[in-house]
Amino acid sequence: MLLAPVEYARPSSLAEAVRLLGAYDGARPLAGGQTLTNVMKARAAAPDVLVDLNGLAELRAVSRTDDGALELGAMATLTELTRSNEVAEVRPIVAQVASQIADVQVRNRGTIGGNICSNDPTNHFPPLMAALGATMTVRGADGERTVGADDFFLGVYMTAVGPGELLTKISIPAAGGARDGFASVTIGSDGTCIVNAAATVQEGQARVALGCVAAVPQVLTSAADEAAVRQSVQAANIDPPSDVHASAEYRGHLAELVAARAVAEASA
Ligand SMILES: Cc1cc2nc3c(=O)[nH]c(=O)nc-3n(C[C@H](O)[C@H](O)[C@H](O)COP(=O)(O)OP(=O)(O)OC[C@H]3O[C@@H](n4cnc5c(N)ncnc54)[C@H](O)[C@@H]3O)c2cc1C
Repeated sequence: MLLAPVEYARPSSLAEAVRLLGAYDGARPLAGGQTLTNVMKARAAAPDVLVDLNGLAELRAVSRTDDGALELGAMATLTELTRSNEVAEVRPIVAQVASQIADVQVRNRGTIGGNICSNDPTNHFPPLMAALGATMTVRGADGERTVGADDFFLGVYMTAVGPGELLTKISIPAAGGARDGFASVTIGSDGTCIVNAAATVQEGQARVALGCVAAVPQVLTSAADEAAVRQSVQAANIDPPSDVHASAEYRGHLAELVAARAVAEASA
């Protein structure tokens, strides 16, 4: 289906992008377009103005801060994450997860910012950001603010990025002895996740974020052994959705399984 008519702007600075987003009620940032253009074609979204972020080199940078944290520009593509030395040195799980998403075309265009801003509950990155304790930097007309992952994901397709605002970067703390894991059950090879889990383990303690079982990642903590992780998932009383791919009960069973696998990978 063809796109409905839409205005298009390609700002050359971050300040101009923020000004444009604030100037039009129906303005929406355009990143890789892998989600947005599809929902526009399906008439599930109808922005009046697309503010294309692809000319903003400063949103693409991937770097390591003096304290060893990882800073990912919102416009870094999934492919760029898989090839980044900084990612490989600080939190290689980010590259590992990026490499599992969809296909080469989607990874070449799709960005980490677009992935977490769309907050599709089946996406790979929201639970990973929640498990790693990432912090998002959001910029609007009134300046910058930072939002922790626990407060960033608000609901299906909803985040703390408000109208007129932009996600500019994602900060992920240095591992500091922690190790990370990710596990999923997907629809076919490299397909959409039915359930996924990201885990970080340090000194025998695991922080696990479950995806696909609720509108936002479900975070739980436990000792890093399989029985404790499974018990912790059971105690969380998750109420997963039921669909053509898995009943709620089966998704609950898979949630235990992928949580245990993610923790085992992080502990190996
Ligand atoms: C066939 C296919 C299969 C896929 N499978 C998976 C999968 O299995 N797992 C997975 O995780 N993802 C999957 N995706 C989604 C993919 O990862 C997308 O690239 C991603 O979700 C959106 O990134 P984007 O850069 O294309 O964003 P866009 O589509 O451009 O934008 C998505 C949304 O985020 C907003 N946005 C984008 N950037 C910003 C920003 N910096 N600040 C504020 N708002 C912003 C946009 O306005 C829009 O609402 C799939 C996509 C396709 C087409």
